[in-house]
Amino acid sequence: MSMVHSSGELELKGTCESMDALGVLAGVPYMASPNCDERPHGTLIRLVVIHAISLPPGEFGGDGILQLFTNRLRAEDHPYYREIHALRVSAHFLIRRDGTLIQFVPCEKRAWHAGVSRWKEHDRCNDFSIGIELEGCDEQSFEDAQYMRLRHLLALLRQRYPEIEVTGHSHIAPGRKTDPGPCFDWSRIA
Ligand SMILES: [Zn+2]
Repeated sequence: MSMVHSSGELELKGTCESMDALGVLAGVPYMASPNCDERPHGTLIRLVVIHAISLPPGEFGGDGILQLFTNRLRAEDHPYYREIHALRVSAHFLIRRDGTLIQFVPCEKRAWHAGVSRWKEHDRCNDFSIGIELEGCDEQSFEDAQYMRLRHLLALLRQRYPEIEVTGHSHIAPGRKTDPGPCFDWSRIA
């Protein structure tokens, strides 16, 4: 877990410096999602898909995202949840507003995050990608702590998967998805 020091700087040392054979980061909270399966045999992991999510929409800090990714979202808790509670989805990772990282699916497994999608002539991006959700929405800037954590996570992933390129959900599912949205500053992870 990260600590925010009195200086306000996020201390990243000692966290997620290593990944096991399945692609689970050490030192990171892990909440197993059933919404994953095996990647096609021999798949080269070559893409990271950046997403944004908030549950309920526009609200931060609650348990809704964790509940959605682990099939525990309750339809009666919010009108929007009635529409989405039966979805079977999960990203590999979530970065919360304070920079906290949570993992749901081992990187070697196929998480169900992208849906119908296409990248460079390849369909079904879930097959060959890693999904990272940022807690956020289309209308609000992301936090410095989130960019810092994301850069650090991308650097770690590149150690294991040197081929990876980074894209957004809206880029691989245009017209269907808008995340991570207009407030995501791509220059900050360049
Ligand atoms: Zn998305």
